[in-house]
Amino acid sequence: MPGLGSQARFIAHTSSFTEIDLESTQGYLLKRLKNEVARVHRHEAQSFYPSVYVETSGFVLMDWRVADLNLSDIPTPELEAAAQQACARMVRSVSLKPPKDASRVSFMETHVGCAAVLIVQHLTRPEGGKPLLDCHSYQRCVLILRSAVKLALYRPVQASNVPLMPYDGCEVLYGRAGLLYGLLFLRSNITAEIDLDGPLSGDIKALTSFDTLRKVVDDVIDRGTMGAEVTRPPGVTPSMWPPLMWSWHHKLYLGAAHGVAGILQMIVSCPLDTIAAHIPIILQTVEWLLHVQCEDGNWSSKASEGPPTERQEWCHGAPGLVILFSTILKRAAELSVSPGLQSRLKSAVHRASDLIYAEGFLKKGVGLCHGVSGSVFALLAASDTLDGHDKDLLPERFYQAVHLAVLGSHWHGMTRRGELRRPDAPYSLYEGLSGLCTAYAAILERITPDGEWRGLGSAFRGMPGYDDVMIQMR
Ligand SMILES: [Zn+2]
Repeated sequence: MPGLGSQARFIAHTSSFTEIDLESTQGYLLKRLKNEVARVHRHEAQSFYPSVYVETSGFVLMDWRVADLNLSDIPTPELEAAAQQACARMVRSVSLKPPKDASRVSFMETHVGCAAVLIVQHLTRPEGGKPLLDCHSYQRCVLILRSAVKLALYRPVQASNVPLMPYDGCEVLYGRAGLLYGLLFLRSNITAEIDLDGPLSGDIKALTSFDTLRKVVDDVIDRGTMGAEVTRPPGVTPSMWPPLMWSWHHKLYLGAAHGVAGILQMIVSCPLDTIAAHIPIILQTVEWLLHVQCEDGNWSSKASEGPPTERQEWCHGAPGLVILFSTILKRAAELSVSPGLQSRLKSAVHRASDLIYAEGFLKKGVGLCHGVSGSVFALLAASDTLDGHDKDLLPERFYQAVHLAVLGSHWHGMTRRGELRRPDAPYSLYEGLSGLCTAYAAILERITPDGEWRGLGSAFRGMPGYDDVMIQMR
């Protein structure tokens, strides 16, 4: 039976979210957050990899996220200083290079993400009076982003003996949808903060313009339309196959990291004007995703895959789909989602969330990608959309997220005892401890100083590097 065997991907829990006392848990998570941020900072000086997924840029995102809470126990100036030092270390020790491959242009795993983080730190979070980047370094970061856009949009002429797969390389973790996140990240962090008509900002204005976003969106959709035609299995009619499909390394993934859910997540996070023409086929693809949800609430890792896999991690399976559907439900009016489709999306989110809560205390470390923190963020996305409509009921998804975060807080002893696996990058955002810190921060953001759930109506942020960009309509 899944969950009880030593081979299970998760640790079954017997306690219940209904036993959570929010006020005392708030104090507990605050203490854990303080200790764990300090632990990440102690490790940081030895960090070597610059990427968001693995190390330095991810530490900076964690510092910003916790700093934005303005907690007296974890002083904001210390976090801002840590972020500035991490960025300065990155500038000193890493030779940031423009991408050479259009399928390696993402925010999470390439120098594109590092450049975007450095630009935001430089322009919006000046620390200690001295600018982070000199003119040359700033221009280098801008060049990396501009080159990534140019490369992503480039369509090579097919050589006679090389099979061209234009629908490959669009996914979030390494590809074009990951670049789209990078542009949205810049837009979300910078446009409200700085004068885009000022010196040095003309390039940023162009990179974050509707025109650039629309070009990248159109390109990714175009590739997905081609992919859907080419990959439709023999015998499957067009009505039984989505109008959009992409591949990664020839495989048709459905989840957040490499698949359809992640790519659509970035597209539906864009301003309406940049995606309006594509809404019908986006929603038809979403209908298909609903159609292929498994009996247990999960999704197979890949389209056309036979039996469902056990994986229900952010990278593969239910969490990525829950975050996508929750984002679409939040924007339902703008995206003209019919009441019938809204109702089916809600029901799918509930079924998947039940599974994520039951099986979301994953064994592969505590990070966002395939650890408990990804499960926490999926439940928070569901909570932000579905909780609180009945004032007499507990905000179920929120309490479930809190419960999983509390279970994850025992990671240290559990790792020592071999109950949790030690990931390759144990302090990182996507595999390790800084991911858990951002999950704590996201929970604390949703609790009032009196220890009560803040309820719906506030613009809470989701998973850093994924669904935390503020959607700007204009
Ligand atoms: Zn993963």
